[in-house]
Amino acid sequence: MPELPDIVYIRNRLEEKVVGREITGVTVEEPVVLRVTVPQSFEVILKGKKILQVYRRGPFVGFRLSEGMEIIVHPMLTGKFKWINSNRKKRGRFCFIIDLADNSHLFYLDEKRMGKVYLVLEGDYSSIPRFREQGVDILSPEFTWERFQSLISGRRNQVRVFLMDQTALSAIGNAYADEILFHSQIHPKTLCSQLIEEQRKQLYRSIKEVIQWGIEEVEEAGEPMEVKVRGHMRVRNRKGEPCPRCSTPIRSAGVLGHDSFFCPECQPTTRKVFIDWRKAVKTVK
Ligand SMILES: [Zn+2]
Repeated sequence: MPELPDIVYIRNRLEEKVVGREITGVTVEEPVVLRVTVPQSFEVILKGKKILQVYRRGPFVGFRLSEGMEIIVHPMLTGKFKWINSNRKKRGRFCFIIDLADNSHLFYLDEKRMGKVYLVLEGDYSSIPRFREQGVDILSPEFTWERFQSLISGRRNQVRVFLMDQTALSAIGNAYADEILFHSQIHPKTLCSQLIEEQRKQLYRSIKEVIQWGIEEVEEAGEPMEVKVRGHMRVRNRKGEPCPRCSTPIRSAGVLGHDSFFCPECQPTTRKVFIDWRKAVKTVK
């Protein structure tokens, strides 16, 4: 799924390319992705509407339209936006194309048709699964240390599972969960209840820092919206490669059905990092 830094990038690009433009036509090729909760078809409703705003909420991208309508896209694992500034529409497989008054086109692509696209009356999110249940937005002022503490305390599951719980923290997926745990030097299978105060504080700081780093890296890569940028990852999908901190080969392990990547030296399984006798002996020498 697109994770928070990806969604921030996609939203920013969409804002540049489509906000303020009028929709002059719509071509639908894969109606199976559409969930229209109002009478009339997707094509008929959209034609003539203006795109007023693009916003993000967790993994969702929302488009506010004139006359009180909204399109909300949940791209899931495979949905992508592609923008083309040309009269010449490239064909190829797509779910739908929105033509804009400046002769540009916004494509929505989804080879596996896993994502969903909702057309709703503004503010009516009752038909959209998981939209209202999204957890705290990490980039918002609500993501305070107190809020984080209340979310993590009392949890009995593994810390990586907690990071990816969308009802707690919004839009952290496999890639950034691994990077956050590497940054905070916590083993992915550590139970939330095993984390001491110092580790919880570090984890909170790492979430903010790593997400911010991700946003900057994705922005700097400057790829088109449909490209998933992962080249900056330090441990994710780097099994066998040297850890950028200590050069130990990166390992992978399954955590509740998801592959997780970590450094066995920087992210030890137990709290030995705090009573590391080998290092203590070295210091004495
Ligand atoms: Zn390491």
